[in-house]
Amino acid sequence: MTIPLHVLVTGATGRTGAIVVQKLQQRPGEFIVQGFARSEAKVRELFGTTDGFYLGDICNPDGLKVALEGCDALVILTSAIPQMKAPPQPGQRPEFIYPEGGTPEQVDYQGQVNQIDAARAAGVKHIVLVGSMGGTHEQHPLNRMANGNILIWKRRAEADLIKSGIDYTIIRSGGLQDQPGGQRELLVGKDDEWLAHPPEGIPTAIPRSDVAEVVVQALRAPSARNKAFDLISKPADTPGAVVTEDFHALFEQTTPGL
Ligand code: NAP
Repeated sequence: MTIPLHVLVTGATGRTGAIVVQKLQQRPGEFIVQGFARSEAKVRELFGTTDGFYLGDICNPDGLKVALEGCDALVILTSAIPQMKAPPQPGQRPEFIYPEGGTPEQVDYQGQVNQIDAARAAGVKHIVLVGSMGGTHEQHPLNRMANGNILIWKRRAEADLIKSGIDYTIIRSGGLQDQPGGQRELLVGKDDEWLAHPPEGIPTAIPRSDVAEVVVQALRAPSARNKAFDLISKPADTPGAVVTEDFHALFEQTTPGL
């Protein structure tokens, strides 16, 4: 008999986080899921109820402490969210800012460190963290956005997670797409190799739903433990592509360390 894993998902009202919560809810024998979100209204809008959710801010460690009590695993799906300053003038690029208290340093670094620290204190055994490719490229356009260095701060938090001694799975995804999952061959890599040498004919992108499935599979797969990897997908119509169903084989291709 499988003992259900008790999992907390932060960023539960985010576009990928909500899919992870739904996927875990659909496997009640395998997982007991709680979501962590900062907006009660958004939880109600997406899930119709606040049952199974903790309301809080990852910048406030007290709320995390309560939410992580009794958890076996934590899924981190929070992220700083840039806002457009004003609609761009014709022919001009839009300008972005981060809201007060919501900079990448505050959310993607300190907020993630708060989650890691609270998880360690609660005796959590495994953290699955979804980040982004590009953290080795200081000049990446996302780092320049509002001078937030978002990918740099995310990568620093990933390094702290590895140092924490808690089992980790770090998934650095390519550009996220709102497209159906389960229809593509997934590819794993490391160290932004695909940004330096783009794979021919394969955009460095992946549906959010496929990332969410990799998160769910990683929670159960020993071969996903203590691994960090980049993740993209072949376009659905790629000739010869084989839809990924064997996640153990996928995780076997990944490696430990940042
Ligand atoms: P998203 O929709 O932007 O969700 C981010 C979540 O973080 C939201 O639920 C937000 O809450 C929550 N959050 C932010 N600050 C918080 C705080 N202080 N306390 C509590 N919650 C907070 O994320 P996504 O687009 O699914 O992306 C998932 C991950 O993949 C992110 O790490 C992202 O950087 C990374 N990624 C994105 C792309 C891309 O193309 N967008 C590419 C590669 C990797 P609210 O719901 O209340 O706003």
